[in-house]
Amino acid sequence: MHRVMIRPASYDNCRDAVEQAFATFPREIAGKKVLIKPNVLRASTAEDHIVTHPSVLRAVVEKVEKLSPAQIVVGDNPGVFSYGDNEKSFEKTGLMAAAKGYYRNLGNAPRNVAFNPDYLPTVGVSEEILEADIVISLPKFKTHGLTVLTGAIKNSYGILPGAQKARLHQLAGSPARFHDVIVEVFRLRIPDLFIMDAVVGMEGSGPASPELRDIGLILAADNGVALDSVVARMMGVDPVSLRFLQKARAMGLGDFEEQMVEIDGEMSILPDFKLPPPLDAGVIAGNPRNQEILLSRTLLRPQADPELCTACGACIDHCPVSALSMGEDLPLVDADVCITCFCCQEICPEKAMTLK
Ligand code: SF4
Ligand code: SF4
Repeated sequence: MHRVMIRPASYDNCRDAVEQAFATFPREIAGKKVLIKPNVLRASTAEDHIVTHPSVLRAVVEKVEKLSPAQIVVGDNPGVFSYGDNEKSFEKTGLMAAAKGYYRNLGNAPRNVAFNPDYLPTVGVSEEILEADIVISLPKFKTHGLTVLTGAIKNSYGILPGAQKARLHQLAGSPARFHDVIVEVFRLRIPDLFIMDAVVGMEGSGPASPELRDIGLILAADNGVALDSVVARMMGVDPVSLRFLQKARAMGLGDFEEQMVEIDGEMSILPDFKLPPPLDAGVIAGNPRNQEILLSRTLLRPQADPELCTACGACIDHCPVSALSMGEDLPLVDADVCITCFCCQEICPEKAMTLK
């Protein structure tokens, strides 16, 4: 039986909920190396709510400081837009100040570890992650075009430094296999505690959607499968319809069935929650054709909005399979080459990439 804690919170008072998370899921922290990993998708402002809010990170850092002041590391490997630019991402989001001097660049010292040879025989994982005694993951309550939600399990994708993330997107080759990949990465170092920023969440075309949602909650758990199952239910999605949760359960990493997840607090389904297209709530919930629908996402292709695109070319530079080229004044996609990894949507600084 798993437990998921849910507490009301604002960014001004999230300290109380963070205290309760540590009380509900006590960890032996004194004298241990503690790594705290927010979700730092890319350099953006805290008000964009693309990343874990600095107030949540600061509250966690200050709590851990009291328990184990000497050995804290805060870090993440941002998405493709910020490869090699971890500091800028932390500075711009306000997470550098919230890290209170404990920030380290996790991209500097990857160590090779065995991976699933169906994709890659080895991957490089940030050394600080492998050496940590306790890993605390701070996911954000967000949607994601490929995985429907990006929560506890997907936050661990950032333990891979540099371009490996895009490489695995490419090697996965389909949304279904990408669901498998994120679980393979998650299990390389399963975090010990998850504290999720759901004060302001994201709906619509995540993980960098402008559509924000005031939720006013902090969620916490010591099992990522259970936590993501609660997030799915709050979004109006049946967890059984999410392949990555099925895969994680099959690997013995946790359970998502309602009777296996005790809710400590109050959980409610967010009315009219907007899922990433085309997986609206009416289509996905409990629908046995879900796998087919997931696969149909491979038919989607990115398209730049001429009103927003500045033709900066960042999406072209970072497409892992060179599917984009500059047209007259807009990037154009080669539909036969595109692997629908959504990296271009993730990196676009103007939020100009939509899926059609
Ligand atoms: S879609 Fe975004 S990243 Fe690509 S060229 Fe336009 S503004 Fe730049
Ligand atoms: S065009 Fe965009 S979605 Fe398609 S492969 Fe390139 S980065 Fe991925």
